[in-house]
Amino acid sequence: MTERKRGQKICENCGEVNGVRAYECKKCDYPFKMKKYRKGNKKKKVEDHMTLNKGDLIRVVGGSGPFYTGEDGDKIYLVDRGKYTVADVDKLGIHAHGKHGYSYLYMGKRCRSPMMESITKAPCKIVLLKAVSHPNHESPKRRRSRA
Ligand SMILES: [Zn+2]
Repeated sequence: MTERKRGQKICENCGEVNGVRAYECKKCDYPFKMKKYRKGNKKKKVEDHMTLNKGDLIRVVGGSGPFYTGEDGDKIYLVDRGKYTVADVDKLGIHAHGKHGYSYLYMGKRCRSPMMESITKAPCKIVLLKAVSHPNHESPKRRRSRA
């Protein structure tokens, strides 16, 4: 019978004794269930884009947002997936800077574009990567030139 000491865990798969903080068995690589660390708060889907702040780092998930439908039914998404930095938000979307420059990330309801029938407006799926912390102190005072 294996003696079980504190600060150890035993692999369910092969019985090897591992350190308590091991993520996987050192012998057979069997993954340990981590109750505390894997609660999936790594990727936080943004439900309400109005809660975003200037400077927040977001990611646009591929296959979301407005798209163009080709003659053969192919969808061509108009917003590049990837990282964006929030510049401003309004009711219908996010003004953001991505690797290709400024973009407007549509966040309104899905609808056909009134201008072009082949374009469907659909909200982007967005994940918050890094939120800016609210500065407690005031940023350098701007002097208004009101001479
Ligand atoms: Zn094992």
